[in-house]
Amino acid sequence: MRRVSIFGATGSIGQNTIDLIARAPDDYDVVALTGAGNIAQLAQDAIRLGADVAVTADETRLQDLRDALAGSGVAAAAGTDALIEAASRPADWVMSAIVGAAGLEPGLTALEQGATLALANKESLVCAGELILRTARKHDARLLPVDSEHSAVFQALVGEDMSAVERVIITASGGAFRDWPLENLAGATLEQASAHPNWDMGQRITIDSASMFNKALELIETREYFGVDPAKIEVLVHPESLIHAMVGFHDGALMAHVGPPDMRHAIGYALSWPDRSHLPVERLDLAQIGALTFRAPDDARWPALRLAREVMARRGLAGAVFNAAKETALDGFIAGTLRFPQMAEVVEEVLNTLDPGLIDAAMTLDNVRHADQMARHSAQHIIEQL
Ligand code: NAD
Ligand code: MG
Repeated sequence: MRRVSIFGATGSIGQNTIDLIARAPDDYDVVALTGAGNIAQLAQDAIRLGADVAVTADETRLQDLRDALAGSGVAAAAGTDALIEAASRPADWVMSAIVGAAGLEPGLTALEQGATLALANKESLVCAGELILRTARKHDARLLPVDSEHSAVFQALVGEDMSAVERVIITASGGAFRDWPLENLAGATLEQASAHPNWDMGQRITIDSASMFNKALELIETREYFGVDPAKIEVLVHPESLIHAMVGFHDGALMAHVGPPDMRHAIGYALSWPDRSHLPVERLDLAQIGALTFRAPDDARWPALRLAREVMARRGLAGAVFNAAKETALDGFIAGTLRFPQMAEVVEEVLNTLDPGLIDAAMTLDNVRHADQMARHSAQHIIEQL
């Protein structure tokens, strides 16, 4: 029996993870499940899977969670400290699927216990890649990618020598506004930005797909996870979302990973790694699909990609600043105070105006937290001035 915990269990990735685990209940001993506002879902899954503890990040919901778990034998807890306590419980495999920088500390704590961390929370690597990797090395813990592109690259690299890698190509669907006239973007509504053409995901990452902030985070994630020079990482728009990534080698070969847009593949690969297991995902009928198409990303439509390149060149804590500014700008768009193209403008202004000393500070958890807070304040201030 493998002891597993799922952080962000009530979200899109969390629910897909539970779907896989619930298919083989005898293989897993569920330690902790965490969520935030969706108490009913959290309690239902914790009871069904026989978790030791269920944690809500929202302290005000502790009594609701206790009530929902009454008589089940599943312990209830709430708040940030409870999340960290849950992450410190011994587990063999931990899914990090909280959305945003809030996923960083639970992930670090799980790595400190030596757990294998299946990392969907790409923000951790963007904010604190060096710290995450250092912590994993120190505690002999393994980090496995759970982003479709990064799982694809990881799989294309099995048995390969990194010195033979010439390029890494991550694909992007182009999101909801891929084919919109540029002048219409300023009028894009929350509902329109929240509709992804191919993937069914949480709302925040869906909007980030439309703005390409998701791909911007993934460029940085690729650099951090695989240690590749940013100049070797390319973004390719591929509207069908069937090729998730390609790795180009110095003999000219390109190894592509092809599969349906279903996160259970990347989650399942991380769950059974280094083996492959039978997964309940669609098998592609390529003759039926007929054609796969590609195009270069358009810098005017997706300024987030340029900003990610600047962040990678800047290094230091620029990723933490970038992510925090992006999260704040996204909150602004969701709340209706920012227009869609203004998200990138706010992030760029934060990067350009924040005290450079914050970015140049050493990568410790305290400094990452501080840079994150300052970037959020700065973004909020910029939004208020608009
Ligand atoms: P989601 O919004 O569907 O779920 C987020 C989860 O995090 C929920 O369980 C929620 O309760 C919890 N949560 C939210 N705020 C929290 C906080 N402040 N503290 C603690 N918990 C909190 O998101 P998702 O789409 O499942 O994405 C989760 C992560 O996986 C993100 O980092 C995202 O970028 C990444 N990811 C998602 C997909 C996908 O297909 N959904 C693909 C690749 C990567
Ligand atoms: Mg992805």
